[in-house]
Amino acid sequence: MAWVFIEETETGPAAVGLEILTKARELGSPTVIYFGAGSEAAFATLGDYGATEVFHLVPAEGSTGIAAATAAMADLATEHNPDVILFGQTYTDRDVAGRLSARMGKTIISNGIDVAVDGGVGVTTELFGGAQLVTTMFEGEGPHLVLLRPKSFPAEPAGGAAPTVTAVPLPDPGHAGAARVVGNFIEESQGPKLEEAAVIIAGGRGLGSAEAFGLIEQLAAPLKAATGATRAIVDAGWVPYSKQVGQTGKTVKPDVYIACGISGAMQHLVGMKDSKMIIAINKDEEAPIFGVADLGIVGDVHQVLPKLIEALENR
Ligand SMILES: Cc1cc2nc3c(=O)[nH]c(=O)nc-3n(C[C@H](O)[C@H](O)[C@H](O)COP(=O)(O)OP(=O)(O)OC[C@H]3O[C@@H](n4cnc5c(N)ncnc54)[C@H](O)[C@@H]3O)c2cc1C
Repeated sequence: MAWVFIEETETGPAAVGLEILTKARELGSPTVIYFGAGSEAAFATLGDYGATEVFHLVPAEGSTGIAAATAAMADLATEHNPDVILFGQTYTDRDVAGRLSARMGKTIISNGIDVAVDGGVGVTTELFGGAQLVTTMFEGEGPHLVLLRPKSFPAEPAGGAAPTVTAVPLPDPGHAGAARVVGNFIEESQGPKLEEAAVIIAGGRGLGSAEAFGLIEQLAAPLKAATGATRAIVDAGWVPYSKQVGQTGKTVKPDVYIACGISGAMQHLVGMKDSKMIIAINKDEEAPIFGVADLGIVGDVHQVLPKLIEALENR
């Protein structure tokens, strides 16, 4: 029996949750622990993606609700004894999973890219930026706790019926629940979201300056692409963290990823190497990014990008 923890976002069930729910269908009839205000539409979506049963946890106004949700989940898991509880590799999910692991004394495996239940629960993780894959089997009694990276599975609706929804009251977690939400900041962003875009134009230190990121934006506009970045230029303050692709940023899988002035460090590659088509522009023909690229342009971004922009504008 597989459970999937899914947080509600401003657009409904978190995308990573629906990806994992799609995968969980292979493991049996999945139950969802849904964390958020909830709505008929949200529950219908969960059913559509294969949830047969939903335990609904609503955080109290002004509270993160994490500690209370964890306490409620621990009680539910003790009562129903699922084999495995799957989480997305996100801030909220990691927080809940870590607390649940401590509260229930259960092992957690993080950074998974696949999970299988075949005579035991096995989780696949990547080593050395994906050069090696390792499958780790849990031992002992479940529930086994697994954190899975976004974009590890496609999110595919199955046309399922509306699930049974049970509202679960959240207990008072005492001091553990003392954290309060004092403000919400939604970063303003234009254009398609990085995680959902079909085309991503990403820039790295090879651009030379924050101003030169304008070339990335100019190329992105006619292609209706999202813009991404390496950690080097996020740390340099050229672009916000929300654009960072890689191990400590976002994992993306667009149809086309154009890497401009990016060396291709392992920590960057791990977040974009599964893109369907990778195009790299770098003046160093030995740059590791060419090792994963389908198409490569050895050249200066300040010469190549203006030509590409001009060619697109003339189309
Ligand atoms: C724990 C940890 C986590 C990390 N997480 C991430 C992460 O999530 N994402 C991430 O990106 N990095 C991450 N990093 C950093 C990573 O190791 C690299 O330092 C970083 O990705 C390098 O960024 P870059 O390619 O922009 O810069 P550089 O490595 O400096 O590469 C710049 C490239 O631009 C080329 N270039 C220079 N001038 C031009 C020009 N005019 N035209 C064309 N090409 C040019 C150069 O040949 C070079 O290949 C992490 C590191 C650590 C230790």
